[in-house]
Amino acid sequence: MTRRIFRSICTVAFVVFFTTLILVSTILYSHFSDTQQKQLKIQTNLVAQGVSALGNEYFNELTIDDIRITWIDQNGDVMLDTKAQHTNMENHIEREEVQEALSSGYGEAVRYSSTIMERSLYTAQKLNDGTIIRVSAVQSTIPVILASEFKLIIITFFIAFALSMFLASRLSKKIVGPLNEINLDEPLSNEGYDEILPLLNRLDIQKKQLSNQTAELKQTRDEGEQMRREFTANVSHELKTPLHSISGYAELMKNGMVRQEDIIPFSDKIYSEAQRMIKLVIDIINLSHLDENTGEMEFETTDIFAIASETINSLSKEASLNNIRFILKGETSYINGIPQLLKGIVLNLCDNAVKYNKPDGTVTIEIKDTEDSCILSVADTGIGIPSEHHNRVFERFYRVDKSHSKEVGGTGLGLSIVKHSARIHNADIKLESIENKGTTITIIFPK
Ligand code: ADP
Repeated sequence: MTRRIFRSICTVAFVVFFTTLILVSTILYSHFSDTQQKQLKIQTNLVAQGVSALGNEYFNELTIDDIRITWIDQNGDVMLDTKAQHTNMENHIEREEVQEALSSGYGEAVRYSSTIMERSLYTAQKLNDGTIIRVSAVQSTIPVILASEFKLIIITFFIAFALSMFLASRLSKKIVGPLNEINLDEPLSNEGYDEILPLLNRLDIQKKQLSNQTAELKQTRDEGEQMRREFTANVSHELKTPLHSISGYAELMKNGMVRQEDIIPFSDKIYSEAQRMIKLVIDIINLSHLDENTGEMEFETTDIFAIASETINSLSKEASLNNIRFILKGETSYINGIPQLLKGIVLNLCDNAVKYNKPDGTVTIEIKDTEDSCILSVADTGIGIPSEHHNRVFERFYRVDKSHSKEVGGTGLGLSIVKHSARIHNADIKLESIENKGTTITIIFPK
């Protein structure tokens, strides 16, 4: 930054130097031109008076060298010239200043010679006898003057250059110095430039936001860590119990300690515990997929009514064991969702509605299709959930009655899967339940 400021100041200094040089030269040149023209006029007048009084004799005593005097007759022929042989000179009648002098008594003209880069000033005055005195002086042009003063200009330039470098270096350090000393830990404690106050204010706000976010992040990380620990403990516990039973029954059978008629019930036990473990492992895998990412799963237009109908079919055998009846109401309703997760939602809700139902109960699945949402509700006539558990049943491994859940093959993960999958679809969940009367869970999918 110091370098950039230094370079900017130097550039400005050079631009100012050259602009000033050009402007001042032009102004001075024009001023001196005017003055020279005026002086030439006075000199012409003096010469005219001298020639009127003395005639040719005037020129004999003349010692002026820096001006040229030409005496011209009424026809434009040169009678005398102080710098050339008049007989060799061409007729001057067409010259602008001569024409003017002939008509009005006095004339002026400026002529420019591009070959020698010089300007010639001419002033002419008519005498009483009709002849004309013309005085001329040569004036250098700006480039010629600059070239002749080149040495001086170069010296001035180097002095200005050295001075600019020195001042630019000091100035850039002075500007950058306070910026380098800004206390970023306490942005508002800095004094110096009012211009950077908005920046310091923003820094202060961002610093506070950052520290809040860090604290939140830490809390979330701690909570996540805690949840992971609890989850691992729960998983191990949930797997350990069926494994123990399987291992126990298998050991008895291996040692021949099971009577022939107990083999079938024992095998049944082993089978059902193994089935529960498989279900648990599948649920854990599903949940961990939901936790990690759903990026690989694709959203597509999916009919919730069709999913409900398929789910009823897949659960009909289980439902018929307790003579539970399914009622499907509503209509086709399409949403943009992940079919695999939507099936999981409907299956878990219907499975719970069957598991926690009473014999001869009903499970009513209703799908309402509105303009901006699809509303899925699963209502049962089962045991219900006491109100103090309503907020917790969506937690992992949370069960109102653990032994009953195990008895009916629950894993404690069904509603967590529902909650996660609903969140991925930006859907809201509503739980209404009355103990011993039944439960209704409603999911509102936005379209
Ligand atoms: P589980 O595999 O044990 O059913 P869930 O996560 O699906 O696990 O449900 C958590 C708990 O919520 C269940 O153990 C049960 O106590 C209660 N629950 C869920 N659905 C119902 C329902 N329809 N009726 C009564 N209780 C329910």
